[in-house]
Amino acid sequence: MQFPKRLLDGYRAFRSGRLKSEQDRYRELAETGQSPEVMIIGCCDSRVSPEVIFDARPGELFVVRNVANLVPPYETGGTYHGVSAALEFGVGVLKVKHIVVLGHAHCGGVKAFAEETSPISPGDFIGRWMSLIAPAADRVGPRGDMSSAEYLERMEKASVINTLQNLKTFPRLNKLIERGEVKVHGAYFGVALGELSVLDPETGEFWPMKPTE
Ligand SMILES: [Zn+2]
Repeated sequence: MQFPKRLLDGYRAFRSGRLKSEQDRYRELAETGQSPEVMIIGCCDSRVSPEVIFDARPGELFVVRNVANLVPPYETGGTYHGVSAALEFGVGVLKVKHIVVLGHAHCGGVKAFAEETSPISPGDFIGRWMSLIAPAADRVGPRGDMSSAEYLERMEKASVINTLQNLKTFPRLNKLIERGEVKVHGAYFGVALGELSVLDPETGEFWPMKPTE
């Protein structure tokens, strides 16, 4: 069998370890269904797993991940809309109370857009998808004297703000946001130090959260 050994080893560790303490919870969730209060829109990046960062148990987070944690603006064309479908399910069916857009440092998608590196080209999937951050790039402005690292961090953070704005283009969700029934949040994960910063919507600044109380 070609199934990756790393996954089988991990599965066995899960069965003999974590499942033991979570068995009742899994059983209950299987019977009653899931009712997570938080939806996370995160990046596919293997270093930025929301369940790990937020120490989440089964059933607690409804997660959609895509390249560079983006949400396209609302549209109802005839094509397929994976993120929009997840949003519809999270908001309409699960009735999540919070939506967190989780950006991160060293995002390959943002870097590919900013530096027009391979495999970016207008006809490629990544190129088309990453064109969604063009408004964020406009917000940041020209790179000027900024170092590459500083420019990319600004782009990553501006993209989170832009994605939060795109969420408000979904009419039903926007109504819930205006009524305070759904709260949206921007966050940013610094990979090297494992540091989480949260967006202050008033100032547009991301502030590091205290790691302990
Ligand atoms: Zn990323």
